[in-house]
Amino acid sequence: MFIKRLPKFEYHAPTSLSEALDLLAKYDGKARVFAGGTDLLVSMKKREILPEHLISLKRISDLKGIHHDQKEGMKIGALVTLGEIEHSKIVKDKFCVLWDAVHVMASPQVRTLGTIGGNLCGAVPSADTAPPLIALGASTKMVGVQGERRVLVENFFKGPKESVLQRNEILMQVLIPNPPPGSSGTYLKLMRRDAMDLALVGVAAYLRLDPERRVCSEARIALGAVAPTPIRAVQAEQALINKRIDEALAEDAGKAAATVCRPISDIRSSLEYRCRMVEVLTKRAVMDAYRRISQIDGLKG
Ligand SMILES: Cc1cc2nc3c(=O)[nH]c(=O)nc-3n(C[C@H](O)[C@H](O)[C@H](O)COP(=O)(O)OP(=O)(O)OC[C@H]3O[C@@H](n4cnc5c(N)ncnc54)[C@H](O)[C@@H]3O)c2cc1C
Repeated sequence: MFIKRLPKFEYHAPTSLSEALDLLAKYDGKARVFAGGTDLLVSMKKREILPEHLISLKRISDLKGIHHDQKEGMKIGALVTLGEIEHSKIVKDKFCVLWDAVHVMASPQVRTLGTIGGNLCGAVPSADTAPPLIALGASTKMVGVQGERRVLVENFFKGPKESVLQRNEILMQVLIPNPPPGSSGTYLKLMRRDAMDLALVGVAAYLRLDPERRVCSEARIALGAVAPTPIRAVQAEQALINKRIDEALAEDAGKAAATVCRPISDIRSSLEYRCRMVEVLTKRAVMDAYRRISQIDGLKG
């Protein structure tokens, strides 16, 4: 595809959130914030959007850093890059379902620039960080002229490229509660090739096992790229609750997940194939999450 040069725009580099919000209000409707630019600049080159003003968030320190607290969980600034998340030991050790996702996103170069905030705010159905964040029960914190508010990642998306983020609001942080003992998760992504590709299907599974009875006491399964937004497969979760996890049960969960997906057929894959792969990957993700818990707990299951 022929990609043109960037159209002309005025560049702003505020150093505080209040300055950025003032600029958004001043250039109301004519400005866009940008983080890594890996989505936005491509859309501008393709002339899909033509903002007259670009407001870079890169100099705002309030939007940076990964902070973990034993009580409050993890806070990831919207400007944290996918590469920073990939190289975070706490993410790999404690929030491995998110690590699984960033590790298979794009390329090292794109991960060095692209941010978690940009991935969510772009709001494409295949955004890879969304299913793991939904599975982890994460929420987003936003700020606008009206003040701050929090929305669960599960409720953040409204449609393709559409989120609850209001005009002139900025995503500040992603907040993830600490996974309790006896829990773990997995993200599995189906691509046409092994790297640099968007998900045909993405499945994140989070499970918690009851320490006494070894049955599944909590389950969250989230699907990406198979509906207008990332979605939760509640029927699949219900299939697991209060039961001992095994291959047959995981298969039931897979079948239940396939009933909630609403994919499209496109050049990359047919609707039927995507539904079948939701079934297969959900089964695998449930079993992988179960094995991870068993390994952490040193249990045989
Ligand atoms: C070659 C290539 C491969 C890719 N592979 C993948 C992949 O495998 N998986 C995947 O999910 N994505 C992929 N992407 C898409 C993209 O790289 C990611 O979505 C990335 O995380 C976007 O982050 P960014 O910081 O670059 O966003 P930007 O391009 O800076 O912004 C994206 C959108 O979010 C808005 N925005 C950004 N930050 C904020 C904020 N804090 N508050 C409010 N609005 C904000 C911008 O205004 C813009 O509309 C790929 C892109 C490329 C070019």
